[in-house]
Amino acid sequence: MEKFVLYNTLTRRKEEFEPIAAPNVGMYVCGPTVYGDPHLGHARPAVTFDLLFRYLRSSGYKVRYVRNITDVGHLEHDADEGEDKIAKKARLEQLEPMEIAHYYTERYHDAMRELGVLSPSIEPHASGHIIEQIEMVRRILDAGYAYESNGSIYFDVEKYDHDHRYGRLSGRNLDDIVTNTRELDGQSDKRHSYDFALWKKAAPEHIMRWPSPWSDGFPGWHMECSAMSTKYLGERFDIHGGGMDLMFPHHECEIAQSTAALGHDSAKYWVHNNMITINGQKMGKSLGNFITLEELFTGSHKLLAQAYSPMTIRFFVLQAHYRSTLDFSNEALQAAEKGLDRLMKGVETLSKIKPSDRSTADVADLERRCAEAMADDLNSPMVISALFDWVRIINQAAEGQQSFTEADLQTLRATVSKYVFDILGLRDEKAASAAGGRDMVTPLVETLLDMRMEAKAAKDWATSDKIRNRLTEIGIRVKDRKDGYDWEIE
Ligand code: ZN
Repeated sequence: MEKFVLYNTLTRRKEEFEPIAAPNVGMYVCGPTVYGDPHLGHARPAVTFDLLFRYLRSSGYKVRYVRNITDVGHLEHDADEGEDKIAKKARLEQLEPMEIAHYYTERYHDAMRELGVLSPSIEPHASGHIIEQIEMVRRILDAGYAYESNGSIYFDVEKYDHDHRYGRLSGRNLDDIVTNTRELDGQSDKRHSYDFALWKKAAPEHIMRWPSPWSDGFPGWHMECSAMSTKYLGERFDIHGGGMDLMFPHHECEIAQSTAALGHDSAKYWVHNNMITINGQKMGKSLGNFITLEELFTGSHKLLAQAYSPMTIRFFVLQAHYRSTLDFSNEALQAAEKGLDRLMKGVETLSKIKPSDRSTADVADLERRCAEAMADDLNSPMVISALFDWVRIINQAAEGQQSFTEADLQTLRATVSKYVFDILGLRDEKAASAAGGRDMVTPLVETLLDMRMEAKAAKDWATSDKIRNRLTEIGIRVKDRKDGYDWEIE
């Protein structure tokens, strides 16, 4: 297993990665809330943690990767108030909430497949883990860090802060949080504005509800990740990931819940990707710059100068370090498209280079540079820069200015394939669509040539010649054989 360093948001420094039970690695990443089309904002965490998943596997670790689906408890007004987002969409579209959740889960899966994001090992749904969430709420109550109020259960932030300090991950302290939260309006059942719901009693019109010892209701949003990570990865696991926007309050609350219920934090390394901005602005529906992945793939959005392929989006994300900001613009995506094309052409050129009796460049240099870059907190832009340096050398080799022995060519091809396809997770979309085209051509041409054989057998020379001549016109050369035919595309 390869050694590497990973930036831990909790300690604010790069740390050598040492799994709790090597070679096993447990990784939990907060997944989507499924009430709308997957959008550009989903692409970055998905690609970032896919890169980490791929890198861990390629480094010899056995990874259990859990990415959840939030299908309950994500409320309209962010904190603990408002209608459930999925229930609201269901009400507007006159569907069952689970029809909404299923439909958008499928849309998310389709988009992830397009982006080359591997499926996680387990994808638990919050609504399928109500019992586990109730059990964890009970443990927090038993430990004295929660209180019941009018059928709802709230986390007692002040008591927790006194014993464990609340805000370690985001670097906030309770005083900052107090000044930044609005005052309670007297309608709330909470003791303090910064307390958060572990269980909410459902209002009569609330349709997504389950029985519990306290009320018919539903779990607070933060509960699901604590309950499901504990269930599938145990009370201590290696990596917890998500977007930086989830650090507060979501991940802060998860830490508080796990610590209150279990006596300790569950995750050893907290990893956060930075956000995507659009022309310098945060993406948001009200700003008119909200772009779905489908709109990107088809070019159907007023901000888009053209369509961008899924691999262009993936390459664009990988060109920035995951902790840096990434600004979307047509110019940046067009540059990514060109860069990806140059890289894929280099891969193709490499497959055609003929061996020589000596090598003029040290092929171990590429593996060394890529390995060092990945081992330094997943520095994908440095990997890409090393690959581009080698594309230049490969292009020189194609023109006879560099040469490689057979063994070195094999090493170079293996290294390029490992980093481009296995770790960065790119695919050659042009080659794939050309291959797809050939797959259609073959049965069509053979159907016509079988008809020509039948015509010949019936001595219908006119039809036989007509088929052959028409095929020749479109560039397909037919050669008659004793017992059939051969054909090729000219
Ligand atoms: Zn979460």
